[in-house]
Amino acid sequence: MKSRFAPSPTGYLHIGGARTALFAWTWAKKQKGQFVLRIEDTDRERSTQASVDAILDGMSWLGLEHDEGPFYQTERFDRYKEIIQQLLDEDNAYYCECSKERLQILRDELTEKGEKAKYDGCCRDKKLNSGVVRFKNPIAGFVTFKDAVKGSISIGNQELDDLIIARSDGTPTYNLTVVVDDHDMDIDTVIRGDDHINNTPRQINLYEALGWSLPKFAHLPMILGSDGARLSKRHGAVSVMAYRDEGFLPEALLNYLVRLGWSHGDQEVFSLSEIVELFELKDINKAPASFNQEKLLWLNQEYIKSASVAHLLENLAWHLDHQSVDTSTGPALESVVAHLQERSKTLVEMVDGMKMFYQDFDEFDEKLSAKQFKDSQPLELLLTKLSALDNWVADNIKDQIKQVCTELDIGFGKIGQPFRLALSGNGNAGNIDIVAQLVGKDRTLKRLQMALDYIAQHSH
Ligand code: GLU
Repeated sequence: MKSRFAPSPTGYLHIGGARTALFAWTWAKKQKGQFVLRIEDTDRERSTQASVDAILDGMSWLGLEHDEGPFYQTERFDRYKEIIQQLLDEDNAYYCECSKERLQILRDELTEKGEKAKYDGCCRDKKLNSGVVRFKNPIAGFVTFKDAVKGSISIGNQELDDLIIARSDGTPTYNLTVVVDDHDMDIDTVIRGDDHINNTPRQINLYEALGWSLPKFAHLPMILGSDGARLSKRHGAVSVMAYRDEGFLPEALLNYLVRLGWSHGDQEVFSLSEIVELFELKDINKAPASFNQEKLLWLNQEYIKSASVAHLLENLAWHLDHQSVDTSTGPALESVVAHLQERSKTLVEMVDGMKMFYQDFDEFDEKLSAKQFKDSQPLELLLTKLSALDNWVADNIKDQIKQVCTELDIGFGKIGQPFRLALSGNGNAGNIDIVAQLVGKDRTLKRLQMALDYIAQHSH
C-alpha cells in the first residue's frame, strides 16, 4: 500500500500542506505501507529550488520521513510524452490550435448567456498536428466515485470540457502528470486537499482512457482562519518553519494538525504512534476546520511540560544557536531546562528565560527598578549573608533570605521581589532560591552589588 504527498514547490511548506502530508503519512504507516514524496515541479516559472528545500526542511523537521522519493516531475518528461503520444495515437486526445482570442470570445459568450465557460471542442475532429494537446473527455454519461471523506460524488461529463494535457511547447499539465505518476508509483490512496476535488472526475476519465485502475480518493476539507476565510498569511504564520522559529515542538504542531480535521472522541493529546494506531479515513471531518492559535499554544505548553529534558535540549539547540546564547559557561543546561519547563509556553520563551543564567546584563528593567530598588538595607544584609555562604544550594539560600526577613522584621516580598529583579534584570524568574542556586554564587553577588549601586545612584 502506498500514499503520497505531492506538493508544488512554489512557496514554503504551508500549514495546510503539512496537514495533508501528515494524513497521507499516517495512512501509509497505519497500513504498514510506503509514503511517497513527489515534487510537482512542472510549472517551471513558479517552481524554485528554494521552495523544494523549504518543503524538504519542513518535512524533516516534522519528522514525516518519506519511504520513497523525492521524485521530481521534471525528471519524468519523457514518460509523460510517451503517455500523451499514446493518448493521441489511440484517439483519446487531439491537437488544438484555437487562439487565445477565440477562447476568450467563447468564454465571454458563454458567461453572458449564464452558462459554464468551457471549451466547445472546435478542434476535436480536425486531426491537427500541432498546438496544445487536449484530452477527449467523454461527451455523455457520468463520472461517479466514492470519496473516502466526502462520500459519493457524481458529475455529468457534459460539465467537463476537453482539458489541456500538454501545452504548445509540449510540457505536460498537472492533471496528466498526476495521473501518470499516481499510476506509475502504485499509489493506492490519494489523500489531498479538497481544492482538487473538481479535478478528480477529469483525472478519473484519464485513468479510464488509459485502462488503469483507480486509486481511492480522500479529499480533506480546508483549513480556515478565525474569520472563516481560507487560512492565509493574513491570519498569521502559515509556514511550517515559522512555527519552528516561534518555538513550537514538531510533535505539538503535528498533534494540533491531526486534530484539525480528524477526531477520536474528545481526546486532544495524541502521540504520533497513537495517531497512527487510531487514525481511520472515515473519521476525517467533512466540514472545514478553523485554525486556533491559542489551542496550538496550549498544546505546545503541554508537550513542553511533559517532554524529557533531553528531548527539549535537542529542540533547543537550534534556538540557542539562532539567538547566539553561549551556554558553555554557567549552570548545567539540564538543570536550567528542568527549571523552566513548567513555565514556558514555547521554546523561544524558554531561551529567553535561559539567558539570565548564561549572560550578564548591565541594566535593570526601568519601571521595575524604580519601584523595587528603593531600600538598600535588605539587599545589603542579604549580600553580606550570601557572601559568607559556602554551600551554595537552594535550601541554604532560602534560609539566608528568611534570616534577613527575621532580622529586619520585614515580609518576604520586601526582599524577594528586589532579589528576583536583581538576579534576572527583568523580574521574570521562578522560584528565587532555585534561580539563585542556578545563577551561581559569583553572578548572584555581582548582581546584588549592581542593584545596590543602582539604589545608591538613584537615592538623591
Ligand atoms: N501538486 C498539487 C498541489 O500542490 C497537489 C496535487 C495532488 O495532490 O494531487 O496542490
